Amino acid sequence: MKLREIYKQENSPVISFEFFPPKDDADGKKQAALLTEIEILKKYNPALVSLTHGAGGSSAHNSSAIIQEIKTKYNVNVMPHFTCICSSIQDVNERLELFKKLEIENILALRGDIPPEITECFQDFRYANELISYIKNKSDLSVAVAGYPDGHIESPDLKTDIENLKRKVDEGAEVIYTQLFFENEKFYNFKERVRKAGITIPIAAGIMPVVSAKQTQKILTGIKVKIPKSLLEKTEKFSDNPEDIKKAGIEFATEQYRDLIKQNTEGIHFYTLNKSDAVSQILDNTL
Ligand code: FAD
Repeated sequence: MKLREIYKQENSPVISFEFFPPKDDADGKKQAALLTEIEILKKYNPALVSLTHGAGGSSAHNSSAIIQEIKTKYNVNVMPHFTCICSSIQDVNERLELFKKLEIENILALRGDIPPEITECFQDFRYANELISYIKNKSDLSVAVAGYPDGHIESPDLKTDIENLKRKVDEGAEVIYTQLFFENEKFYNFKERVRKAGITIPIAAGIMPVVSAKQTQKILTGIKVKIPKSLLEKTEKFSDNPEDIKKAGIEFATEQYRDLIKQNTEGIHFYTLNKSDAVSQILDNTL
Protein backbone atom coordinates (compact mmCIF):
# COMPACT_ATOMS: atom_id res chain seq x y z
CA MET A 1 0.00 0.00 0.00
CA LYS A 2 1.28 3.46 -0.90
CA LEU A 3 1.93 6.20 1.65
CA ARG A 4 -0.97 8.35 0.50
CA GLU A 5 -3.41 5.46 1.04
CA ILE A 6 -1.88 4.47 4.40
CA TYR A 7 -2.29 7.99 5.75
CA LYS A 8 -5.77 8.41 4.30
CA GLN A 9 -7.15 5.58 6.41
CA GLU A 10 -9.20 6.34 9.48
CA ASN A 11 -7.09 4.62 12.14
CA SER A 12 -4.78 7.45 13.10
CA PRO A 13 -2.16 7.79 14.33
CA VAL A 14 -0.36 5.69 11.77
CA ILE A 15 2.31 3.73 13.66
CA SER A 16 5.69 3.00 12.11
CA PHE A 17 8.95 1.56 13.44
CA GLU A 18 12.47 2.35 12.30
CA PHE A 19 15.29 -0.21 12.28
CA PHE A 20 18.83 -0.25 10.96
CA PRO A 21 20.55 -3.14 9.15
CA PRO A 22 23.23 -4.64 11.40
CA LYS A 23 26.87 -4.26 10.39
CA ASP A 24 29.61 -6.95 10.63
CA ASP A 25 27.14 -9.80 10.52
CA ALA A 26 28.93 -12.54 8.59
CA ASP A 27 27.16 -15.37 10.45
CA GLY A 28 23.73 -13.69 10.17
CA LYS A 29 23.13 -13.78 13.94
CA LYS A 30 22.45 -10.05 14.21
CA GLN A 31 19.97 -10.20 11.36
CA ALA A 32 18.18 -13.12 13.03
CA ALA A 33 18.04 -11.13 16.30
CA LEU A 34 16.65 -8.09 14.46
CA LEU A 35 13.95 -10.19 12.82
CA THR A 36 12.92 -11.48 16.25
CA GLU A 37 12.49 -7.87 17.49
CA ILE A 38 10.42 -7.03 14.40
CA GLU A 39 8.26 -10.09 14.99
CA ILE A 40 7.55 -8.93 18.56
CA LEU A 41 6.59 -5.43 17.39
CA LYS A 42 4.39 -6.77 14.61
CA LYS A 43 1.59 -7.37 17.12
CA TYR A 44 1.10 -3.57 17.33
CA ASN A 45 0.09 -3.58 13.65
CA PRO A 46 2.59 -1.08 12.27
CA ALA A 47 1.47 0.41 8.96
CA LEU A 48 5.08 0.12 7.90
CA VAL A 49 8.60 -0.40 9.11
CA SER A 50 11.43 1.72 7.78
CA LEU A 51 15.00 0.58 7.28
CA THR A 52 17.90 3.04 7.40
CA HIS A 53 20.54 3.24 4.69
CA GLY A 54 24.12 4.45 5.06
CA ALA A 55 25.14 7.13 2.57
CA GLY A 56 27.43 5.58 -0.02
CA GLY A 57 25.59 2.28 0.18
CA SER A 58 27.58 0.79 3.06
CA SER A 59 24.57 -1.21 4.28
CA ALA A 60 22.98 -1.87 0.88
CA HIS A 61 23.67 -5.59 0.76
CA ASN A 62 22.31 -6.25 4.26
CA SER A 63 19.24 -4.15 3.71
CA SER A 64 18.05 -5.95 0.60
CA ALA A 65 18.25 -9.32 2.39
CA ILE A 66 16.37 -7.93 5.39
CA ILE A 67 13.72 -6.23 3.24
CA GLN A 68 13.03 -9.56 1.57
CA GLU A 69 12.81 -11.37 4.92
CA ILE A 70 10.46 -8.80 6.49
CA LYS A 71 8.19 -8.78 3.48
CA THR A 72 7.96 -12.53 3.03
CA LYS A 73 8.06 -13.69 6.66
CA TYR A 74 5.93 -11.03 8.31
CA ASN A 75 4.00 -9.51 5.44
CA VAL A 76 4.80 -6.00 6.72
CA ASN A 77 5.09 -2.98 4.44
CA VAL A 78 8.78 -1.94 4.27
CA MET A 79 9.91 1.61 3.53
CA PRO A 80 13.66 1.64 2.85
CA HIS A 81 15.55 4.91 3.38
CA PHE A 82 17.22 6.15 0.20
CA THR A 83 20.21 8.46 0.69
CA CYS A 84 21.94 10.26 -2.17
CA ILE A 85 24.86 12.34 -0.88
CA CYS A 86 27.60 9.99 -2.07
CA SER A 87 25.65 8.37 -4.89
CA SER A 88 26.17 8.58 -8.63
CA ILE A 89 23.21 8.52 -11.00
CA GLN A 90 24.16 4.91 -11.73
CA ASP A 91 23.96 3.99 -8.03
CA VAL A 92 20.50 5.53 -7.81
CA ASN A 93 19.36 3.69 -10.94
CA GLU A 94 20.62 0.39 -9.52
CA ARG A 95 18.71 0.93 -6.29
CA LEU A 96 15.57 1.82 -8.21
CA GLU A 97 15.92 -1.45 -10.15
CA LEU A 98 16.41 -3.40 -6.92
CA PHE A 99 13.31 -1.85 -5.34
CA LYS A 100 11.30 -2.69 -8.41
CA LYS A 101 12.36 -6.33 -8.05
CA LEU A 102 11.55 -6.31 -4.33
CA GLU A 103 8.15 -4.70 -5.08
CA ILE A 104 8.84 -1.75 -2.81
CA GLU A 105 6.17 0.94 -3.00
CA ASN A 106 7.45 3.60 -0.57
CA ILE A 107 10.84 5.11 0.23
CA LEU A 108 12.16 7.78 2.60
CA ALA A 109 14.27 10.05 0.39
CA LEU A 110 17.21 11.69 2.13
CA ARG A 111 20.37 13.55 1.39
CA GLY A 112 22.25 11.71 4.15
CA ASP A 113 25.53 12.64 5.80
CA ILE A 114 28.97 11.62 4.57
CA PRO A 115 30.12 8.68 6.75
CA PRO A 116 33.70 8.98 8.07
CA GLU A 117 34.81 5.79 6.29
CA ILE A 118 33.90 7.16 2.83
CA THR A 119 36.91 8.49 0.93
CA GLU A 120 35.37 8.91 -2.53
CA CYS A 121 32.06 10.72 -2.57
CA PHE A 122 30.12 11.37 -5.81
CA GLN A 123 28.11 14.57 -5.91
CA ASP A 124 25.46 13.90 -8.54
CA PHE A 125 22.84 14.91 -5.95
CA ARG A 126 23.43 17.76 -3.50
CA TYR A 127 20.09 17.86 -1.69
CA ALA A 128 17.17 15.52 -1.10
CA ASN A 129 14.87 17.58 -3.36
CA GLU A 130 17.14 16.74 -6.32
CA LEU A 131 16.87 13.02 -5.53
CA ILE A 132 13.07 13.22 -5.30
CA SER A 133 12.85 15.03 -8.62
CA TYR A 134 14.98 12.29 -10.23
CA ILE A 135 13.07 9.41 -8.62
CA LYS A 136 9.69 10.85 -9.52
CA ASN A 137 10.73 10.99 -13.18
CA LYS A 138 12.06 7.45 -13.16
CA SER A 139 9.57 5.48 -11.03
CA ASP A 140 6.15 5.49 -9.43
CA LEU A 141 7.49 5.14 -5.88
CA SER A 142 5.72 7.06 -3.12
CA VAL A 143 8.20 9.30 -1.35
CA ALA A 144 8.49 10.40 2.28
CA VAL A 145 10.98 13.00 3.52
CA ALA A 146 12.70 14.14 6.72
CA GLY A 147 11.66 17.19 8.76
CA TYR A 148 13.34 18.81 11.76
CA PRO A 149 11.25 20.28 14.63
CA ASP A 150 14.48 21.46 16.33
CA GLY A 151 15.92 22.66 13.00
CA HIS A 152 18.52 20.93 10.82
CA ILE A 153 22.08 21.38 12.07
CA GLU A 154 23.22 23.18 8.89
CA SER A 155 20.27 25.54 8.67
CA PRO A 156 20.58 29.13 9.88
CA ASP A 157 16.98 29.04 11.19
CA LEU A 158 13.71 27.11 11.09
CA LYS A 159 12.26 29.43 8.44
CA THR A 160 15.01 28.53 5.95
CA ASP A 161 14.67 24.88 6.85
CA ILE A 162 10.93 24.90 6.18
CA GLU A 163 11.48 26.68 2.85
CA ASN A 164 13.81 23.83 1.93
CA LEU A 165 11.31 21.27 3.21
CA LYS A 166 8.78 22.80 0.85
CA ARG A 167 11.11 22.16 -2.11
CA LYS A 168 10.87 18.43 -1.27
CA VAL A 169 7.10 18.56 -0.97
CA ASP A 170 6.80 20.48 -4.24
CA GLU A 171 8.75 17.66 -5.93
CA GLY A 172 6.06 15.20 -4.80
CA ALA A 173 6.82 14.06 -1.23
CA GLU A 174 3.72 12.62 0.44
CA VAL A 175 4.62 12.35 4.15
CA ILE A 176 7.12 14.05 6.49
CA TYR A 177 8.89 11.94 9.14
CA THR A 178 10.49 14.08 11.80
CA GLN A 179 13.80 13.76 13.50
CA LEU A 180 13.41 12.57 17.08
CA PHE A 181 12.44 15.33 19.52
CA PHE A 182 11.80 15.42 23.26
CA GLU A 183 9.74 18.58 23.58
CA ASN A 184 6.30 18.21 22.05
CA GLU A 185 5.86 21.99 22.01
CA LYS A 186 8.66 22.16 19.45
CA PHE A 187 6.82 19.64 17.29
CA TYR A 188 3.52 21.57 17.53
CA ASN A 189 5.31 24.83 16.69
CA PHE A 190 7.04 23.16 13.73
CA LYS A 191 3.75 21.72 12.50
CA GLU A 192 2.02 25.08 12.72
CA ARG A 193 4.80 26.78 10.75
CA VAL A 194 4.85 23.98 8.16
CA ARG A 195 1.09 24.39 7.65
CA LYS A 196 1.48 28.19 7.38
CA ALA A 197 4.07 27.59 4.65
CA GLY A 198 1.32 25.85 2.65
CA ILE A 199 2.50 22.28 3.26
CA THR A 200 -0.52 20.06 3.83
CA ILE A 201 0.89 16.50 3.74
CA PRO A 202 0.82 14.34 6.94
CA ILE A 203 3.60 14.77 9.49
CA ALA A 204 4.70 11.72 11.51
CA ALA A 205 6.32 12.55 14.86
CA GLY A 206 9.63 10.84 15.65
CA ILE A 207 9.93 9.41 19.17
CA MET A 208 12.97 7.74 20.65
CA PRO A 209 12.76 6.34 24.17
CA VAL A 210 15.97 7.02 26.07
CA VAL A 211 17.21 3.63 27.27
CA SER A 212 20.86 4.43 27.85
CA ALA A 213 22.50 7.79 28.65
CA LYS A 214 25.68 6.95 26.71
CA GLN A 215 23.87 5.74 23.60
CA THR A 216 21.58 8.80 23.62
CA GLN A 217 24.52 11.22 23.85
CA LYS A 218 26.08 9.47 20.84
CA ILE A 219 22.86 9.74 18.82
CA LEU A 220 22.49 13.44 19.67
CA THR A 221 26.03 14.26 18.52
CA GLY A 222 25.88 16.41 15.41
CA ILE A 223 22.15 17.19 15.59
CA LYS A 224 20.38 20.14 17.19
CA VAL A 225 18.23 18.10 19.61
CA LYS A 226 18.92 18.44 23.33
CA ILE A 227 17.65 16.29 26.20
CA PRO A 228 15.27 18.45 28.30
CA LYS A 229 16.32 19.33 31.85
CA SER A 230 13.65 17.17 33.50
CA LEU A 231 14.86 14.03 31.71
CA LEU A 232 18.53 14.94 31.97
CA GLU A 233 18.24 15.28 35.74
CA LYS A 234 16.82 11.78 35.96
CA THR A 235 19.50 10.24 33.74
CA GLU A 236 22.17 11.94 35.88
CA LYS A 237 20.50 10.87 39.12
CA PHE A 238 20.35 7.25 37.95
CA SER A 239 23.73 7.32 36.23
CA ASP A 240 24.93 4.14 37.96
CA ASN A 241 21.65 2.30 37.47
CA PRO A 242 20.88 1.57 33.79
CA GLU A 243 17.50 -0.04 34.60
CA ASP A 244 16.27 3.15 36.31
CA ILE A 245 17.44 5.29 33.37
CA LYS A 246 15.49 3.05 31.03
CA LYS A 247 12.40 3.23 33.25
CA ALA A 248 12.60 7.04 33.32
CA GLY A 249 13.10 7.14 29.54
CA ILE A 250 10.08 4.93 28.92
CA GLU A 251 7.90 7.02 31.28
CA PHE A 252 8.98 10.20 29.51
CA ALA A 253 8.29 8.79 26.03
CA THR A 254 4.93 7.40 27.18
CA GLU A 255 3.85 10.92 28.26
CA GLN A 256 5.10 12.31 24.95
CA TYR A 257 3.13 9.69 23.05
CA ARG A 258 -0.09 10.26 25.06
CA ASP A 259 0.08 13.99 24.43
CA LEU A 260 0.79 13.57 20.70
CA ILE A 261 -2.27 11.34 20.39
CA LYS A 262 -4.42 13.86 22.29
CA GLN A 263 -3.32 16.49 19.77
CA ASN A 264 -4.42 14.29 16.84
CA THR A 265 -0.93 13.68 15.48
CA GLU A 266 -1.25 11.92 12.13
CA GLY A 267 1.62 9.49 12.57
CA ILE A 268 4.06 8.31 15.23
CA HIS A 269 7.41 6.98 14.07
CA PHE A 270 9.36 5.08 16.71
CA TYR A 271 13.15 5.02 16.57
CA THR A 272 13.47 1.49 17.96
CA LEU A 273 17.28 1.19 17.86
CA ASN A 274 16.56 -2.42 16.88
CA LYS A 275 15.02 -3.28 20.27
CA SER A 276 11.38 -4.03 20.90
CA ASP A 277 11.02 -3.84 24.68
CA ALA A 278 10.98 -0.05 25.31
CA VAL A 279 8.58 0.61 22.42
CA SER A 280 6.36 -2.33 23.48
CA GLN A 281 6.15 -0.91 27.00
CA ILE A 282 5.15 2.55 25.71
CA LEU A 283 2.44 1.07 23.54
CA ASP A 284 1.23 -1.24 26.33
CA ASN A 285 1.17 1.71 28.77
CA THR A 286 -1.19 3.56 26.49
CA LEU A 287 -3.61 0.78 25.57
P1 FAD B 1 17.99 17.93 2.80
O1 FAD B 1 16.52 18.04 2.81
O2 FAD B 1 18.69 17.94 1.49
O3 FAD B 1 18.54 19.14 3.72
C1 FAD B 1 19.90 19.19 4.13
C2 FAD B 1 20.24 20.64 4.52
O4 FAD B 1 20.33 21.45 3.36
C3 FAD B 1 19.20 21.31 5.42
O5 FAD B 1 19.90 22.20 6.26
C4 FAD B 1 18.32 22.08 4.45
O6 FAD B 1 17.71 23.21 5.06
C5 FAD B 1 19.33 22.47 3.36
N1 FAD B 1 18.75 22.44 1.99
C6 FAD B 1 17.90 21.51 1.51
N2 FAD B 1 17.64 21.73 0.20
C7 FAD B 1 18.36 22.80 -0.15
C8 FAD B 1 18.53 23.51 -1.37
N3 FAD B 1 17.91 23.12 -2.49
N4 FAD B 1 19.36 24.62 -1.37
C9 FAD B 1 20.00 24.99 -0.24
N5 FAD B 1 19.87 24.36 0.96
C10 FAD B 1 19.08 23.27 1.00
N6 FAD B 1 20.76 9.61 7.39
C11 FAD B 1 21.35 8.54 6.79
O7 FAD B 1 22.51 8.62 6.39
N7 FAD B 1 20.64 7.37 6.62
C12 FAD B 1 19.36 7.23 7.03
O8 FAD B 1 18.77 6.16 6.84
C13 FAD B 1 18.72 8.33 7.66
N8 FAD B 1 17.43 8.27 8.07
C14 FAD B 1 16.81 9.38 8.59
C15 FAD B 1 15.44 9.32 8.93
C16 FAD B 1 14.78 10.43 9.43
C17 FAD B 1 13.31 10.34 9.76
C18 FAD B 1 15.50 11.64 9.63
C19 FAD B 1 14.82 12.86 10.19
C20 FAD B 1 16.86 11.73 9.30
C21 FAD B 1 17.53 10.60 8.77
N9 FAD B 1 18.88 10.64 8.41
C22 FAD B 1 19.49 9.54 7.83
C23 FAD B 1 19.70 11.84 8.65
C24 FAD B 1 19.73 12.78 7.42
O9 FAD B 1 20.30 12.15 6.32
C25 FAD B 1 20.53 14.03 7.81
O10 FAD B 1 19.82 14.79 8.73
C26 FAD B 1 21.02 14.88 6.64
O11 FAD B 1 21.95 15.83 7.16
C27 FAD B 1 19.93 15.68 5.93
O12 FAD B 1 19.13 14.89 5.14
P2 FAD B 1 17.81 15.54 4.45
O13 FAD B 1 17.25 14.55 3.57
O14 FAD B 1 16.94 16.15 5.48
O15 FAD B 1 18.52 16.69 3.60
